[in-house]
Amino acid sequence: MEEIIPYARQYLDDKDIQAVIEVLKGDYLTTGPCINKFEREFAKKVGAKYAVAVSSGTAALHIAYLAAGIKPHDEVITTPMTFAATANAALYVGAQPVFADIDGKTYNIDVKEIERHITSRSKALVPVHYTGLPCDMEEIYEVARSNNLAVIEDACHALGAKYKDTVIGDCTFSDITVFSFHPVKHITTGEGGMITSNSEQLYQKLIKLRSHGITRDNDTFNEISHGDWYYEMQDLGFNYRLTDIQAALGVSQLKKLDSFVSRRRQIASRYNKAFQELPVELPSEPEGYYHSYHLYVIRLKKESTKTRKYLYNRLKEKGIHTQVHYLPVHTMPYYRENLGYKLGDYPEAEDHYSRVLSLPLFPAMTDDDVDYVINCVKEVLI
Ligand SMILES: *Cc1c(COP(=O)(O)O)cnc(C)c1O
Repeated sequence: MEEIIPYARQYLDDKDIQAVIEVLKGDYLTTGPCINKFEREFAKKVGAKYAVAVSSGTAALHIAYLAAGIKPHDEVITTPMTFAATANAALYVGAQPVFADIDGKTYNIDVKEIERHITSRSKALVPVHYTGLPCDMEEIYEVARSNNLAVIEDACHALGAKYKDTVIGDCTFSDITVFSFHPVKHITTGEGGMITSNSEQLYQKLIKLRSHGITRDNDTFNEISHGDWYYEMQDLGFNYRLTDIQAALGVSQLKKLDSFVSRRRQIASRYNKAFQELPVELPSEPEGYYHSYHLYVIRLKKESTKTRKYLYNRLKEKGIHTQVHYLPVHTMPYYRENLGYKLGDYPEAEDHYSRVLSLPLFPAMTDDDVDYVINCVKEVLI
């Protein structure tokens, strides 16, 4: 096979391209009608009252933490098995990221570990639905309520996932949920993100924080309007706006979400069947959970004689570019030097990192691509 198969990539069709061209020909490149449309349709899709489009998943996390009232010296409890942005955003608001180790079966944050790390300074829990498998939100919500903590779901992997009778993003068990539209994620806008909530108060804060803390809404002014040009800056916000060019792409991509997720699940199920006999641990999907498979990760068994590096390198030689998700955040030099974390602090996450590999999984993969990956993985591991 000549072509390189990456671990993830976007899927764009002519309708997506046409949607962007229409915006480019129109009046509004930003702050136009596509933003509202994308927000409305996204909110409807996940079953939330409100949605706020922003420039990235990281921007979404940042203003979600601010809106939730996380302040300097507060503690935010999250998993070390995530992209750095989940924890970094706590640092942006002056808070302390505190990690709780993962569960060795689901690879999601372990609720008992969360409880062990709650202190009088704890302010929020940030579960990450790693690879697209939802965390046990009912339990997490229970712990949060009994300790008066906010819950912010990092659902950057989990658009299209379901948990019990809920859809991830409907905020049944959280205050706020955040999503990313980076090209490797379920739907893309190039860069982009979305925040959902059922709280009108949080929604109003998020809308302001997205755009410099400025409001033009007469009803919320502190002072008497000087005229129709009048606006007020009431909070210190940012320019975290999504453009209409991106939002149009988002609206078009969202229409394909269901087919994207079912194709991802189809590929995952073929992998599951094919790898039964290999010396690897396969992803789990407990009863009542609907995995959206942002990633398909395998873990080499502890007793495996072949290393992850060997598998990675051999697959790369065959044109299959896998990835490792993730280097645990607490082991990053910045976190070790500035926050005092060290190797050994989170044994489950570190063990996971040492054995895990993300195989190619994206809707544009053909059945031939999938077969090729299966055959190569088997060839290397048998
Ligand atoms: C992608 C991702 C982010 C950041 O999203 P960006 O849009 O790249 O800023 C945050 N958390 C997780 C778990 C992610 O996968």
